Amino acid sequence: MTAQTLRNYIDGQWVPSDSDRVLDVLNPATEEVLAKVPLGAASDVDKAAKAAHAAFASWRKVPPVERARYLFKLKQLLEDNREELARICTSEHGKTIAESRGSVQRGIECVEVACGAPSLLMGDTLEDVATGIDCQSVRQPIGVFACIAPFNFPAMVPMWFFPFAVACGDTFICKPSEQVPLSQQFVWKLVEDAGFPPGVLNLVNGDSEVVNAICTHPLIRGVSFVGSSPVAKHVYETAAKHGKRVQALGGAKNFMVVMPDANRERTLEALSSSAYGCAGERCLAGAIVLAVGDSHTWLRDGLKQKAAAIRVGDGATDGVTMGPVISAAHKDRVLGYIDRGVEEGAELIHDGRSSQQPANGFFVGPCLFDGVTEEMAIGQEEIFGPVLCIEKANDLDAAMARISKHPLANASTIFTQDGSAARRFKFEVDASMAAVNIGVAAPMSFFGFGGAKGSFFGDLKAHGREAFDFFTDRKVFMTRWD
Ligand code: NAD
Repeated sequence: MTAQTLRNYIDGQWVPSDSDRVLDVLNPATEEVLAKVPLGAASDVDKAAKAAHAAFASWRKVPPVERARYLFKLKQLLEDNREELARICTSEHGKTIAESRGSVQRGIECVEVACGAPSLLMGDTLEDVATGIDCQSVRQPIGVFACIAPFNFPAMVPMWFFPFAVACGDTFICKPSEQVPLSQQFVWKLVEDAGFPPGVLNLVNGDSEVVNAICTHPLIRGVSFVGSSPVAKHVYETAAKHGKRVQALGGAKNFMVVMPDANRERTLEALSSSAYGCAGERCLAGAIVLAVGDSHTWLRDGLKQKAAAIRVGDGATDGVTMGPVISAAHKDRVLGYIDRGVEEGAELIHDGRSSQQPANGFFVGPCLFDGVTEEMAIGQEEIFGPVLCIEKANDLDAAMARISKHPLANASTIFTQDGSAARRFKFEVDASMAAVNIGVAAPMSFFGFGGAKGSFFGDLKAHGREAFDFFTDRKVFMTRWD
């Protein structure tokens, strides 16, 4: 069967891209071609931006309570179709079906929070700021916003943004990752079924050409980006230079500090699922275990056992606990880091490369290194694969110093039963998401989310109350009636 070429959704219509550049979308577990995605042209962005700009004029006047009703409808459609969306997500990304279901649920929760727009959009009022003068601040929508998404959460990441933007009265263009465009293709069919007016929500497929067109288009007022730090920085700089609001969430190298008093079994379980869940392709994945004092011995043995117990295979199959990585190129990149770790003198105590794996697909079994140091590439750079590194730290001070020196600061966690160590860690660690006894400090739709240092470029972070700040402008009315 010939793979279908995907269309864009612009101004309420499914339309072909102007570009004839296409990419095969593969199931990374089987290498089956699922579809062809157009790599997009600047003219596609221009059409979407013009449609979204035209729709803004009337959408901003739709009362927030009515805008929320479209989102309630979308939430219902997402819930009714959650299993199909999870299956699409697994087929194009490779993560297990349980992981896909979890990510779809997190996306739906963003729609739920955005449904609260009538309350969350309220402003402030003070009567008599001077005699007979009242002052009122309101939030107003701004115009056309766009998001640029990474490959690792095909269904969820765009939902971190578009429900909030349209709840605020803005209109929107979504550019999914060209590696995993099918989940959003499906979500946008639900958007169509929810009955949003034409032009309010648009979908444009593509790669860097579309990204650069978004960052420079004069009608687009703001950009939300999620992806690697070098591209986040590029998007931040380019879009800001073109007068846009930007929030650009970048890459990560997350540290997990284990104190000697930590609960052993719970800590081992949390570390293992943090590092190997979604085949390590999570911006919140634990990458380095900082083993404080004599925790090193039980961590080394326990993590080895956990890695050996992981069942690698097609994420759509029951019982599989880790799927493939996204592509052949990414597999080579991860394998390159493993080779480099060995060359640089780290000890590969569990070598997932040699584990039983399906013949087709981009599989890398779970790998565990001990004796890692901060000078090694595996101790410094984001691998974004199922590779966990153990490094020794003399005490909490040494562990905190190691974390502070690293340029990225997305998430960090401490495992301990000592409240004072936990409190110090929470308040002092650089990471934007700081956790205690939790492997993955997952973003909650009703709280803000983003990174710190080189993991985030911008001011206002994603979802929660901050989304309502990002997608609106504050205006102040001063009134006197004599
Ligand atoms: P990526 O940076 O390669 O791609 C992200 C998006 O940018 C894609 O839509 C892609 O088309 C576009 N892009 C890629 N190269 C570009 C270029 N040179 N110019 C313009 N646009 C370009 O990231 P990825 O590989 O898809 O995703 C993995 C990365 O995302 C990891 O670094 C991970 O840590 C990060 N991530 C961060 C978060 C977070 O919340 N901070 C969440 C998920 C993923």
